[in-house]
Amino acid sequence: MTHSKQRVAVIGLGNMGIPMAKRWIEAGYEVHGFDVSPAALDHLVEVGGIPHDSAAAAAIAAGTTILMLPNSAIVDAVLTDFGEQGALVPESVIIDMSSSEPLKTRANAERLTAQNVTFFDAPVSGGVRGAIAGKLTVMAGGEASDVEDHRALLACVGKVIHAGPVGAGHAVKALNNLLSATHLWQTSEAVYIAERFGVAPETMLDVVNSSSGKSGSSEVKWPNFILPGTFDSGFEARLMLKDAQIATGLADLLGLPTTLGNELVSQWSLAMNDLPARSDHTEVARWIKQRGEKSV
Ligand code: NAD
Repeated sequence: MTHSKQRVAVIGLGNMGIPMAKRWIEAGYEVHGFDVSPAALDHLVEVGGIPHDSAAAAAIAAGTTILMLPNSAIVDAVLTDFGEQGALVPESVIIDMSSSEPLKTRANAERLTAQNVTFFDAPVSGGVRGAIAGKLTVMAGGEASDVEDHRALLACVGKVIHAGPVGAGHAVKALNNLLSATHLWQTSEAVYIAERFGVAPETMLDVVNSSSGKSGSSEVKWPNFILPGTFDSGFEARLMLKDAQIATGLADLLGLPTTLGNELVSQWSLAMNDLPARSDHTEVARWIKQRGEKSV
């Protein structure tokens, strides 16, 4: 007896979408996909996926669709297109793995559930390296049964944590990146302050990473992307700012203070005014250094 392959569509084949699609292909899934960029569609073919002319066509071919798009506005546009192109059929499943806005995710889930479409969020952290290695953290927000039904699919790209009801994944993802951005900013300032006092950056990082100030920024980002001067983590500065703004916006909506968060957003926005639009997020460390040099 022959078994047809399980299918999944990936919409958004960028820095994250392509390595994730590759993981599913290697796990035996038939992967369909779409991206507005022809180069991204070529990458899908290179890793063994099946390209389509539209997001809706890919979704219809697969039945289960992963969104890995830049932001909520684009997720909403793609979902509108799905509606117009007949891709929102009962029993179809859409999992938004982009870093989107939690309240927009809840609104989308309400609307799609009424059409018998399963919709839940499962954003990730771990970067491009994590996506390549299948070692992302997948933060799922949705009905426990929906998450369990798709745990095997999601587990191909990393460790699945059920964060709570729909939108919870997007909330914890944004809050995690608010922490990550704050760590990167403060670690960079601390390294440069130590350097001006005569302590080599490598020594400062050695101390921090053996002490209580350590973080992903001191253990991974500084040694791998900032000290070598490559600034190529694969996660753009504008996406980090988007996540930090989602987190502070959520705090505002919930009536809770986020004092350092608001300052981080305002400092990061200053850096973005100077940096090229598609800069890697680790470039803020270089910007902080240059600002310090100008102030001497
Ligand atoms: P990216 O910009 O590299 O990829 C996004 C892709 O979406 C691009 O290829 C773009 O052409 C495509 N796209 C844009 N509009 C589209 C549309 N209407 N239809 C189809 N495709 C469209 O971004 P990325 O780094 O892969 O990030 C994707 C998502 O994952 C974002 O929400 C980001 O915040 C999140 N994320 C990224 C990382 C990372 O390290 N890069 C880590 C965790 C989460």
